[in-house]
Amino acid sequence: MPIIDSNGRTIDYARISVTDRCNFRCVYCMPDDGVALIPHGEIMRFEDIIWLARVLESLGVRHVRFTGGEPLVRRGMAEFLVLFRKEFPDMTVSLTTNASALLQFAPILLEARLSGMNISLDTLDPVKFAIMTRTGNLQDVLKGIDLAAGLGIDDIKTNTVLIRGFNDTELPDIIHFAWEKRMTPRIIEFMPVCGEIWHGEKFVGSDEIMEFISAVGDWIPVQNETKGAHGPAKYFTDLSSGQRVGVIEAVSNHFCSDCNRLRITASGNMRSCLFNNAEIPLLGMVRRRDWDEVHGAILDGISMKPEKWRDAVDGAANMSGIGG
Ligand code: SAM
Ligand code: SF4
Repeated sequence: MPIIDSNGRTIDYARISVTDRCNFRCVYCMPDDGVALIPHGEIMRFEDIIWLARVLESLGVRHVRFTGGEPLVRRGMAEFLVLFRKEFPDMTVSLTTNASALLQFAPILLEARLSGMNISLDTLDPVKFAIMTRTGNLQDVLKGIDLAAGLGIDDIKTNTVLIRGFNDTELPDIIHFAWEKRMTPRIIEFMPVCGEIWHGEKFVGSDEIMEFISAVGDWIPVQNETKGAHGPAKYFTDLSSGQRVGVIEAVSNHFCSDCNRLRITASGNMRSCLFNNAEIPLLGMVRRRDWDEVHGAILDGISMKPEKWRDAVDGAANMSGIGG
């Protein structure tokens, strides 16, 4: 039986961060010198994640997304995904990645039969890409995207965080690029994060995003869709081509009423809301394999899920630690 929270939302999706480490330092996500790293011993081991996923599955979770930091920088991650798929054959299993390591891991990932992959792609300009990611190389990511297309994954999306004056005018090119690769482009509103990363003047709201993409298509909103119905994105179809684009209005029109997710950080803390820093530490109980305690703690965490993110205490988040 799925869990229904006190606001009537079915909670059936868990985003699990497997690491807080990343090979990039995207300007909208991390400070230049990175973030304070969690000691290795405090990061969930793969066997902890599998055990925790069994508890989550017993509570009605049907979709697990692995994220980070960059999940593929964690040693053994691709092999873990193959194992996870074997352990949970009926689960929707997806990955959010910056795609830079797919060159190395795509052959192994083929066996993981992933249900979905979200790939960050903020610009197609190599110079801007280097500025945006501070350490990344666009060519590696483009090769990774080509390899991802060959993995037999039904649902691949690109994620573009829109930064005013930086990549806003590039949106039409990014959308066409994703369509050519048979991927669904999604544009994400820059979300307020902790530290000095957030700059209100660089934020572009969804109304303006629609203006930026008005030349690309004749958009009509997608209604009553089952697939991704609880996701944060609003989808639009171009009347002439039938192609789609997603817009994630995280700030201007929050998606809280449909939120079906819980989050587990790399150190095994459960968060019921991206923007609420209240966390329930599960790692100790997970390592003791105390099923009832973990079960109860997850239910407690869900009972703390705010109705709207603006009701959350902090309104800020550390994306690389939580996994976006
Ligand atoms: N490293 C992987 C990646 O970049 O896809 C996974 C982790 S990353 C934290 C997950 C998602 O969060 C990415 O799509 C990224 O663009 C998004 N993200 C990070 N910081 C953000 C911010 N301040 N506003 C909006 N989205 C953000
Ligand atoms: Fe790394 Fe992803 Fe954050 Fe970029 S958005 S710094 S790739 S975790």
